[in-house]
Amino acid sequence: MDRVKGKVALITGAAQGIGKAIAELLIQEGATVIITDILKNEGEKVAKDLGSLACFYPLDVCREEEWQAVLQFIKSRFGQLNILVNNAGIMGSSPHQAPQDPENCSLENWHHVHAVNLDGTFLGCKYGIALMKNAGGSIINISSRSGVVGIPSAVAYASSKAAIRNHTKSVALYCAEKGYNIRCNAILPAAILTSIWNDVLGEQEEERQQSIIALSKGIPLKKMGNPIDVAYAALYLASDESCYVTGTDLMIDGGILAGSPASPKPQ
Ligand code: NAD
Repeated sequence: MDRVKGKVALITGAAQGIGKAIAELLIQEGATVIITDILKNEGEKVAKDLGSLACFYPLDVCREEEWQAVLQFIKSRFGQLNILVNNAGIMGSSPHQAPQDPENCSLENWHHVHAVNLDGTFLGCKYGIALMKNAGGSIINISSRSGVVGIPSAVAYASSKAAIRNHTKSVALYCAEKGYNIRCNAILPAAILTSIWNDVLGEQEEERQQSIIALSKGIPLKKMGNPIDVAYAALYLASDESCYVTGTDLMIDGGILAGSPASPKPQ
C-alpha cells in the first residue's frame, strides 16, 4: 500500500487499455494522476470513476503546444511532477488501410505513426524533464517487443518503438550526467489484450476467441497478458523501490523475447 503516495503522475493515452490500468494502480497506491488522451469523453469518465485523486486533461501527444499547456496546468495546480508515463501509441495498420510492410507503407503513414509514438515520447521527455528536475522523478516510456524484433507487417510501428527504446537510454544518461535525480526506463510489453489488437483478432466474438487461442500457442506462457500485468511493472518503476534502476528495458511479454522456438531441444 502507498507505494507512490503523494506523488503526482501524468499518463498519456490513459482513457483505456494499458494507460488506464496504470492510472488505476497508481491511484490505488496513493498517487495523484492526470489522465490525458485524445479521447475526451472516455478520459473524463475514467477520471470521474477514479475519484478525487484523478483528473482529466486533453492531450494530443504530437502537439507541442498541448504538452506546454498540460505541464503549465500541473505546475500551477500541483507544483510538481514526479511520474510521467509516455504510453499513448498507435499501430497504424489495419485491414482497412494499405499494408504497412516495407514495400507498401506510405510515407504519410510512416510519419503519422512516428509522430504519435516517437515524437509524442520525445516531447513528453523534453517537457517532463523541465518540470521534474527540481524534485526528481521517474519517466516510463512504453516501447514494445516490436522495438527489439522486426515486424514485417507494421514497419513504422516497429521502427518507432525501437527508437523509443533507444531514446529512453539517452534520456536516462543525460539526466544522470546532469544530476537531475530523474530516472528513465522503458517497458516492452507484448501480446497484452487491449483494443490495439482489435483489427488483428477480428470483430466476431467466436473469431476473436479462436485468434486468441492461435496466438497464445506461440507465446511461451501460452496466454496473452492483461493491462494490469504492465501496470505492476510501471508501479515498480514509478516507485522509489526502483531508485537504482535507469536506462533499462523491462519486458512484460510472457517470455516471447526470451528466445526462439527453433532453439535446440533434446530428442
Ligand atoms: P489502446 O489502443 O487501448 O490505447 C492507446 C491509447 O492511446 C488510446 O486511449 C488512444 O486514444 C491513445 N492515443 C492514440 N493517439 C494518441 C495521441 N495522438 N495523443 C494522445 N493519446 C493518443 O492500446 P494499448 O494496448 O493500451 O497501448 C498502450 C501502449 O502500449 C501503446 O504505446 C502501445 O504501442 C503499447 N504496447 C501495447 C502492446 C499490447 O499488446 N497491447 C504491446 C506492446 C506495446
